[in-house]
Amino acid sequence: MLNTLRRIIQEVTIAKDLDQALDVIVLRVKKAMNVDVCSVYMVDKDRGELVLMATDGLNEAAVGMVRLKAKQGLIGLVGEREEPVNLADAPTHPRYQYFPESGEERYRAFLGVPIIHHRQLQGVLVVQRLTKRHFSEDKVTFLVTIAAQLAGAIAHAEASGGIDGLRSRVSGARDAAPLQGQPGAPGVAIGTAVVNFAASDLDVIPDRAPKDIKTETSLFKKAVDEVRKDIQSMLERMEEVLPAEDRALFDAYLLMLEGGGIPGEVVRRIEQGNWAAGALRETITEHVRAFDAMEDNYLRERAEDVRDLGRRILEKLRSRVPGKPKKFPTRTVLVGDEITASMLAEVPVKRLAGVVSRRGSQTSHVAILARAMGVAAVMGVDELPVSHVDGRSIIVDGYTGRVYINPSRAVRDEFKHLLREEAELSKELRELRDQPAITPDNVGIPLYINSGLLADVTPALKSGAEGVGLYRTEFPFMVRDRFPGEDEQCQIYRQVLKSFAPAPVTLRTLDVGGDKALSYFPIEEDNPFLGWRGIRISLDHPEIFLVQLRAMLRASAGLGNMNIMLPMINSVAEVDDALRLLRRAHHELIDTGVSINMPHVGVMIEVPSAVYQVRELARRVNFVSVGTNDLTQYLLAVDRNNARVADLYDGLHPAVLRALQQIVDGAKAERTPVGVCGEMAGDPAAAILLLGMGVDNLSMSAANLPRVKWVIRTFTRRKARNLLKEVLTFEYAHSVRTFLNAALEDAGLGGLVRAGR
Ligand code: PEP
Ligand code: MG
Repeated sequence: MLNTLRRIIQEVTIAKDLDQALDVIVLRVKKAMNVDVCSVYMVDKDRGELVLMATDGLNEAAVGMVRLKAKQGLIGLVGEREEPVNLADAPTHPRYQYFPESGEERYRAFLGVPIIHHRQLQGVLVVQRLTKRHFSEDKVTFLVTIAAQLAGAIAHAEASGGIDGLRSRVSGARDAAPLQGQPGAPGVAIGTAVVNFAASDLDVIPDRAPKDIKTETSLFKKAVDEVRKDIQSMLERMEEVLPAEDRALFDAYLLMLEGGGIPGEVVRRIEQGNWAAGALRETITEHVRAFDAMEDNYLRERAEDVRDLGRRILEKLRSRVPGKPKKFPTRTVLVGDEITASMLAEVPVKRLAGVVSRRGSQTSHVAILARAMGVAAVMGVDELPVSHVDGRSIIVDGYTGRVYINPSRAVRDEFKHLLREEAELSKELRELRDQPAITPDNVGIPLYINSGLLADVTPALKSGAEGVGLYRTEFPFMVRDRFPGEDEQCQIYRQVLKSFAPAPVTLRTLDVGGDKALSYFPIEEDNPFLGWRGIRISLDHPEIFLVQLRAMLRASAGLGNMNIMLPMINSVAEVDDALRLLRRAHHELIDTGVSINMPHVGVMIEVPSAVYQVRELARRVNFVSVGTNDLTQYLLAVDRNNARVADLYDGLHPAVLRALQQIVDGAKAERTPVGVCGEMAGDPAAAILLLGMGVDNLSMSAANLPRVKWVIRTFTRRKARNLLKEVLTFEYAHSVRTFLNAALEDAGLGGLVRAGR
């Protein structure tokens, strides 16, 4: 059964569109369960109906015609109860409803299970039999398992087809439903999708129009010739060591490469308007699907050979398959399976309008970068059909996390209107630039920016920041192919320190590990966020840590505006050790005759153990800064990068708020200044609470700074305290958000209310 299940899911996953996916489901499930009918009904959200979308057994002509209201018939009953309905004799059930066009009157036994994705009913999967008998428990669990697995695969197929109006075919509406991801960076972008892909990964090669069919075809044929030669020479080399029957594998490869086989199909697809790499992906996927579906184990394994062959041809084409276009469109929206910091850096800043990534979340580092650059981003778009969107018109709504592919004129107009409103709000906010961040009852809350790129410095200065509250030193480490040397690091740090002097700049020591990988220092772990990251690596490698500390100290010479901050601290011992190394680096420099002041040192409070030992930690340093991105992840046990649990990741969760209050109180008791440098500091609603808690400063992306300044200049600390007092009695995160949004509206800052548009 497990094998059957695996094969069905695989076939559905690679289906071209929803139609094909549903056809595969009904055909295969009917056969696997040995029943007389298998049908799928899908939810038409616009009309609140369940529509028969595919069947093997009922009358084909009924597809698209049989429609049931949500609470109608047995299908409606399955949807309503959200659990299986298993009936020996369906026509005798009071909810049974007969549709003459379906020809279903002959069938007695009925088993329907709901298809649910992310808690939403997507459809109902039904099997029927002529004989009057309940389905066995085995059959029920098989169908439930298959429906649960299919939910994701259907959603994916639906999204791929969505582009060509699949959903709209169900609903009759003109616009396909937007794809839903997570808001990654605020803002709206209307532009052209440019798919960025690893040129070695066949599965993610996008469809693209060929520049010239003749050249494309001849390039492809050349690649095939080269592969053929490679295989022939492999065959010759193997001649002596392999028996003839094992060499047959290579013969099979050669056979597949003959004109009429795979190459013929690829050429046909090129002629139909896809470039060689895209045509190759389509062809190989189709063959793999066919092999995967075979009952025979030996034949099924041939799918891997086809994939291998595809990869070999791609490899030859590769020099001609650039992962990025030569010239990016004026309003480029970078789209990909996993957009990385370096992909972002490849697009000229002026042309980059937005980012859409199938993986990752709001607190992934690429989202943080997008925010720093003021570029709209949506992350974790599970159902993004990456290979079908290249070159299409696209809208990115970084506020709600929605992505519209090929939007209609009406949708475009709506977003253009929004862009105009945004521009007006920014104008108002810009006027605050030179105003101090002081509450009406005279409490100064310095607002700093988070940074990690030298390119951030100008927008940061323009945003009216009073310094840098978090400089992520790992970014200069990430964009190189080796550890940067002491002089190299010193130069980078000095440039940042100088740009802001005399305003303070907090340099955080290296925080790699987790989702921040260095290509030249690979860390393979099952649980990277609970593994070797941040200060743990620095303390285990004093030779790397000391170089960084010396570079920082040297960079600060004569400027006196540098603070050093330690990430991922989970015990006082780590602080003691880090301080010892810092003192050593300082002495070494003093010994060489350089005069450098010892900087202020702070620790980040971002793991739960640090919350409970905040007083002991605060006592040892000059300041503490709360990293709410990680703190939220660790307190709520929700991976900050996992789109599937992104709904559970919420900094306004009452438990997080209580932890924050405890940190602020603990630091205050030790008279140690406390700031917040996680993304929460840049959320206007959360900023009200942080003000009420008594934080001393906030550090955020440059793009959010003017919005938070507006909040600080509007709410007195007294008012913020009262709002916080009330919020701390709430039990649900969503009530906190609603309450704070209302407070912003009441204060005339409705423009800052982000959610719920
Ligand atoms: C945090 O965890 O809140 C933080 C500021 O650090 P980073 O996002 O770089 O992990
Ligand atoms: Mg962190």
